Amino acid sequence: MNDNPKRPSGKSRVALVKCADYDLAVLKTAIASALDKLGGIKSFLAKGRKVLLKPNLMMPKPAGFPANTHSQFIRAVIELFRAAGAEVTVGESAAGSQAGVTFTKASLKASGLEEICRETGASLVNFDLGAAALLPVNNSYVQRIPVARPVLDADLVVSLPKLKTHTFANIITGAVKNMYGTIPGQIKADFHRLAPRPSEFYTVVRDLYAIVRPGLTIFDAVDAMEGNGPSAGNLVSTGFIIASADGVAADAVASELIGVPAEKVMTTRLCAEAGLGKGRLEDIEVLGEDLRKSVVQNFKLPATAVVNPSLYKIIRSLTRSEPRVDDTACTRCKTCVNTCPVKAMSMSITEDRVVIDRAICIRCFCCSEVCPQQAIHPKRRLFVGNVLSKLILSRW
Ligand code: SF4
Ligand code: SF4
Repeated sequence: MNDNPKRPSGKSRVALVKCADYDLAVLKTAIASALDKLGGIKSFLAKGRKVLLKPNLMMPKPAGFPANTHSQFIRAVIELFRAAGAEVTVGESAAGSQAGVTFTKASLKASGLEEICRETGASLVNFDLGAAALLPVNNSYVQRIPVARPVLDADLVVSLPKLKTHTFANIITGAVKNMYGTIPGQIKADFHRLAPRPSEFYTVVRDLYAIVRPGLTIFDAVDAMEGNGPSAGNLVSTGFIIASADGVAADAVASELIGVPAEKVMTTRLCAEAGLGKGRLEDIEVLGEDLRKSVVQNFKLPATAVVNPSLYKIIRSLTRSEPRVDDTACTRCKTCVNTCPVKAMSMSITEDRVVIDRAICIRCFCCSEVCPQQAIHPKRRLFVGNVLSKLILSRW
């Protein structure tokens, strides 16, 4: 973990490099170029050779599924660090479970990562099955957070987030939120119950990030997920790699790249306020491509995005979204029912469909996140909310 991700000038450096596709050679060249702008890959190994890569494999899908860090991208990073003399371990704890079994093992297999690690000589760790340390945090909702031991034992933690939208009020999910997958197993969902509002839950994410802050973040923004992410959105080609020793600054650049002001992203704002990184563009030096000229046009935001802070409370009540199940796409697998942290979902035997108790639902969208069919979408409760939201978004 990195103690000082900032430059002496006080600015954090973020490399923004073009990368057209997932061809391995193209990826390696682009990632190496991004790291060279930050001082070179060897500069990140100053503390030791044990490197832990934390990708974002949200669900068991083949390489290319836009909610997951692309497997070729992970391979490229493994090969670059192995060539630089590092001992590389890849670790993950995916979201969701079925019949008490988490999706991590299936995600590592379906993505091809098991095979990639075998071929490249990297170690692979399923965080759900290994040791964890229970660490105290000074947080109003949670007193202790379990963290996978390999994350704490590494000399360098590298976060490999996917650029994607997030319906649970954060607009995007990136380097900071990716570290939530260092919590083993389904306790991840329990924290949604203990801190149900976004403004509460993201303080837990922030305080975890303070413990497991990566020394390096490399964003897979070659393709991204737009719309109703982090799982029910659509694939869009964005064509970039973003890298930084400051994950908060990397998130700031990632959000600006898709047209979202950095301070609108709650994790960026909370972490910057806590001194965990730089969250404002004026405090960030972007190296490589010109960020303003690189902004991806017409990138679709989640239906839950609400952005005007001064009118936030009124707007929120009008634009509030709830999860809706598309019965025609649903396969009745019950993954959502098993994952819902407040047990608001059940299988109606008489109707043969998933039903949601609206009085209990805390709108965390964990169900949408884990649904393998992308059958759960946010839907605004009020027509006026839809119109208002479109008006606000059109003014960005
Ligand atoms: S909505 Fe999705 S997760 Fe829930 S039962 Fe249907 S297919 Fe499974
Ligand atoms: S129904 Fe979905 S959005 Fe509502 S609390 Fe359960 S998992 Fe969260």
